[in-house]
Amino acid sequence: MMLNEDPELLKNVDTFILDMDGTFYIGNNLLPGAIEFVEIVRESGKDFIFLTNNSSANSEQYADKIRRMGISGEIKVFTSGEATAIYIRRKMKVERLFVLGTPCLKDLFKSYGFEVVNPGRFGECVADPDAIILGFDKTLTYESINAFCRFVMMGKPYVATHPDPNCPDEDFPIPDAGAMIEFVRTATGRGPDVIIGKPNPFILDSMIEKFHLTRERMAFIGDRLMTDMKLANNSGIISILLLSGETKMEDIGKTDVKVDYIFENLLELVDVLRKFEEVKE
Ligand SMILES: [Mg+2]
Repeated sequence: MMLNEDPELLKNVDTFILDMDGTFYIGNNLLPGAIEFVEIVRESGKDFIFLTNNSSANSEQYADKIRRMGISGEIKVFTSGEATAIYIRRKMKVERLFVLGTPCLKDLFKSYGFEVVNPGRFGECVADPDAIILGFDKTLTYESINAFCRFVMMGKPYVATHPDPNCPDEDFPIPDAGAMIEFVRTATGRGPDVIIGKPNPFILDSMIEKFHLTRERMAFIGDRLMTDMKLANNSGIISILLLSGETKMEDIGKTDVKVDYIFENLLELVDVLRKFEEVKE
């Protein structure tokens, strides 16, 4: 099912940016067409890069996960965690960070040259951070979120990696960074100064720079209107919505988000990409 009658737009795309959860896989299972998508994109000399708002793991861990599901070869992944490190390095004059996040998110900030400081066991400020970061912290404890709230109330510059309230999983969605932002807001009356992940166009701008991409030849494939499709709109690139995840057909008219193409899943998109290749031959 194609919404946009003009396939030319799609034909000119040379790099597909893909969401992961609900687009390429759910939990530990590939969605229909994932393998065929990788094949046709590689065969036709195009490229694909995964973009996830999930800052609980790093790009190598995601690439490993995708390999374990049966995709071989080069797998490029960009996360909201990495975009946040780039943002802070570029736009803020800070060195010491308190990171509410998993050990690998803390390591990522260290790899960008930041000093990651931890509060004492009861949240006392043993080392004063210049700024505080809220990520998808699957190691969250009462002590750590208490410490975070104290820094929020002290007025520290506050950056969140992404806004998603929950994250798809095998059976039920699990609470994500957006839920933690609201917990902190309820306790302190203050929200983040900036949220970096989708739909903030900064995340795509930093990808374009890192991977040397051409905006006019990019398309974003995702399953969520308010993050994936909105990012494509905000960044001025082609938007491809898949109904294999969160969004239902009847949700589409309910927002002002513009969608260029709609497919049931990656397999339906693969059929269209295959036709382009057949015409060439
Ligand atoms: Mg998704």
